[in-house]
Amino acid sequence: MSSTATDKSTEENIGELTDGFHLVIDALKLNDVKTIYNVPGIPITDLGRYMQAEGLRVLSFRHEQHAGYAAAIAGYLTKKPGICMTVSAPGFLNGLTALAHATTNCFPMILISGSSEREIVDLQQGDYEEMDQLAIAKPLCKAAFRILHAEDIGIGIARAIRAAVSGRPGGVYLDLPAKLLGQTMDAIAGEKSLVKVIDAAPAQLPAPSAVERALNVIKGAKRPLIILGKGAAYAQADDDIRAFVEKSGIPYLPMSMAKGLLPDTHPQSAGPARSLALKEADVVIMIGARLNWLLSHGKGKTWGDKPKQFVQIDIEPKEMDSNVEIAAPVVGDIGSCVSAFLDGMGNDWSTPPSEWTEAIYAKKQSNIERMAPKLQNNNVPMDYQGALGALRIIINERPDAILVNEGANTLDFARSIIDMHKPRKRLDVGTWGVMGIGMGQAIAAAVETGCPVLAVEGDSAFGFSGMEIETICRYNLPICVVVFNNGGIYRGTDVNPTGGEDVAPTVFVKDARYDKMMEAFGGVGYYVTSPDDLKRAVNEAMDFGKPALINAVIDENAGTESGRIGNLNPQSVVAKK
Ligand code: ADP
Ligand code: MG
Repeated sequence: MSSTATDKSTEENIGELTDGFHLVIDALKLNDVKTIYNVPGIPITDLGRYMQAEGLRVLSFRHEQHAGYAAAIAGYLTKKPGICMTVSAPGFLNGLTALAHATTNCFPMILISGSSEREIVDLQQGDYEEMDQLAIAKPLCKAAFRILHAEDIGIGIARAIRAAVSGRPGGVYLDLPAKLLGQTMDAIAGEKSLVKVIDAAPAQLPAPSAVERALNVIKGAKRPLIILGKGAAYAQADDDIRAFVEKSGIPYLPMSMAKGLLPDTHPQSAGPARSLALKEADVVIMIGARLNWLLSHGKGKTWGDKPKQFVQIDIEPKEMDSNVEIAAPVVGDIGSCVSAFLDGMGNDWSTPPSEWTEAIYAKKQSNIERMAPKLQNNNVPMDYQGALGALRIIINERPDAILVNEGANTLDFARSIIDMHKPRKRLDVGTWGVMGIGMGQAIAAAVETGCPVLAVEGDSAFGFSGMEIETICRYNLPICVVVFNNGGIYRGTDVNPTGGEDVAPTVFVKDARYDKMMEAFGGVGYYVTSPDDLKRAVNEAMDFGKPALINAVIDENAGTESGRIGNLNPQSVVAKK
């Protein structure tokens, strides 16, 4: 660039300039953000380009929802906020589903969205993609911020990071109006305005009296049970949690994403004796799990009619008594709480009465033995047990692989059939039972951990994020997708009762070839019809370590309506005679 003498002297006077784009990037880098999950477009296209130029990994998706699910699960896996970046209004709304999902699941995530001109939006004068995004985001996340001035970028990003990871983690919205990105300021002042967040999620120690109360309740138990939730998996206090479970001698149940926190093959796992354990327990120790619908709200048939006392460890005080009385609330971070329990137990802790642990063990063994032959069938067409029996062996042999799982029957059967062996290896539909998390989670899991990923997908569930297999191929990720293809939602057999031309609402194209979709983008496709072939194909694909999709043909009669939660469907007394 040529400059005249006058230009030069002005430049020297005002010093070097920086702008909103670079302040955002510098602030993120200062806080160790490494990866951005985004869909480019107005006004953030250049922001993504500059981010890449400055050394951030910028992964572009085909739809914001999947970039968002990727960011959310990145937060779960790393305890740092996953960052999703979207364009204004429609892109923002697409990302918002994932932000709400992150908040519901207590995953730290920041949705950064570009937005239109404040002045025009607020006067509702019809700007390009006009929308009051901040107002819309607020009820769906833990905190929402908008930055209007370049000098506030450092503080704005610091607030977003701290809000996402401290206390109960969750989703945070950060609104960046287009004009902000182009604003300039003195580079040195800009650098000084940045904030490095110190101790973003400070330890929260439980009150000693709360720990003592809890241990007294546990000591008095005849039939104690521990329930481990995904909050416990998130906490990354794996060694202390295992030490507590083992020292206590108490049987434990893992919630879905807590599977593998202790290996599912652990002698104290009560997983295969779940119904008995919930019904009969007299003291239940909840660690990072909520008594929401997934645990029948802590009452009703599932829990039997024997009196129960609950001990609950959670970082969120408001979680206590949410559904039933909590006899011993312990508020703090799980690492600190569990280590306080360990200290308080001393050296003469007595394990629960053997009648209880033996009853659980006997029930568990009989259920395992009853299931075993079903998992070994080699039927064609495949049923869920045969197909998942094959995948179960694969995960046993590859305990480092991350399992992503969604669907209805595909989800419910896989959760109980596939044992997990290490913490945070099972990622699934979470608290809402969302269909569509699949490819976003698979991508983030591969990117954040470097581990191979096996995504086991119902054919309907896969459809929500199927286009992201192009993303998987573009970044050449070690992801093997298995589509359980039964030609429909729940089953492929429904018929249109009118005899009309349209198929039933739950039915898809017969013999769809999802494997060819993968081939279209340069990945490897397989078409398999038997458990043996499925096992061979998955092993080959995972050894190869490149994008692969296996179309696994499942008997279209095999599933049940809504998997195991069919009871949640309302029934019409008029239509269903
Ligand atoms: P699950 O569905 O596996 O039962 P939930 O998502 O319902 O798990 O519950 C997770 C719980 O864990 C939430 O109540 C959340 O507040 C809590 N939690 C998350 N992280 C921590 C942590 N580091 N320390 C303590 N509690 C946590
Ligand atoms: Mg199906």
